[in-house]
Amino acid sequence: MTANLLDYDLDGLAAFCETLGEKRFRATQLFRWIHQRGVRDFDDMSDLAKSLREKLKGVAHVAAPAVLSQHESADGTIKWLFDVGGGDAIEAVFIPEDDRGTLCVSSQAGCAVGCRFCSTGHQGFSRNLSTGEIVGQLWFAEHFLRRHLKTDERVISNVVMMGMGEPLQNYSALVPALKTMLDDHGYGLSRRRVTVSTSGMVNFMDRLGEDCPVALAVSLHAPNDPLRDDLVPLNRKHPLAELMAACKRYLQHAPRDFVTFEYCMLDGVNDGAEHARQLVELVRSHDVSCKFNLIPFNPFPQSGLVRSPQQRVAAFAKTLNDAGIVTTVRKTRGDDIDAACGQLAGEVQDRTKVGARIARQRTVVTKPVKFLPGVQETTGSS
Ligand code: SF4
Repeated sequence: MTANLLDYDLDGLAAFCETLGEKRFRATQLFRWIHQRGVRDFDDMSDLAKSLREKLKGVAHVAAPAVLSQHESADGTIKWLFDVGGGDAIEAVFIPEDDRGTLCVSSQAGCAVGCRFCSTGHQGFSRNLSTGEIVGQLWFAEHFLRRHLKTDERVISNVVMMGMGEPLQNYSALVPALKTMLDDHGYGLSRRRVTVSTSGMVNFMDRLGEDCPVALAVSLHAPNDPLRDDLVPLNRKHPLAELMAACKRYLQHAPRDFVTFEYCMLDGVNDGAEHARQLVELVRSHDVSCKFNLIPFNPFPQSGLVRSPQQRVAAFAKTLNDAGIVTTVRKTRGDDIDAACGQLAGEVQDRTKVGARIARQRTVVTKPVKFLPGVQETTGSS
């Protein structure tokens, strides 16, 4: 079994090259060939010494997860399903916009957090992805898109760790992946263009702030503990006061930044005027510099939840904006290929039986479930 070089950030690759008796600048050359030029065949890395190329062939390879399928939406969104072995498949989504190209990346096969409104959560959890499997989604997508669009320019300008999984539950694989994204010899993305989304892993938020303070998004979804305990089970371990304090500490590492609070709008559950007022009070009382992103819920039958009507979303946004908190409503992209937020649905062997546990839980919805026309049963993300 040879080493997959996508598993290493530049320091890791330098250490690997040292074991072959090679200097760091060789690792930098190799890293650039792999990540900047998308080359996987050592024979094509023309400025590497032939002796190094021969050594590498015996001990290393470059491999992203295999693509099982690709779907392109009418709006240009592209979704890939990747095989990560053992019956598990994960998804990544490219979202083109006028001023940016964003890749939504998965960090785990499934998710163990079990948020009620999230289709990934209902699928259960199989395993953490390796660094190579996380970076491999970007490596494949970036170089595929350059070939597809016939350009040598960078296509992906932003990465959001909002695919399948809770990224901070896979911390040791996540950080080298982030460092590769930020590295000038890798993808050269700025710290503010790489976002980690968490449901509230407080201890790891502190570590991320110290190790790699990229942009932070927090899946909030409720303004008080009883409701958040029900929607985001991790809240029972780290209630809102702890989470808000962790957000504030995070911003000490990135003082000019803000936290983006993600809030999935659920009809009759968390979308009332009172909830909006409680949110204003929550962020004001903890003095957290923040923006809100309201997300239209993508219904799936097991959730027992329904999307909030547009007028209620607009009224909710107005309350927050009137209080001076910048609030946007996320545009739905790629929903014709089930690539919208909350719809990512790889294939996961539920080794922890999370899916069954959620199914046994009480639902918070008191009204009959109805599904929007054309919305299909599916999955989603932090
Ligand atoms: S919203 Fe995120 S943390 Fe919650 S179950 Fe889905 S993937 Fe996991």
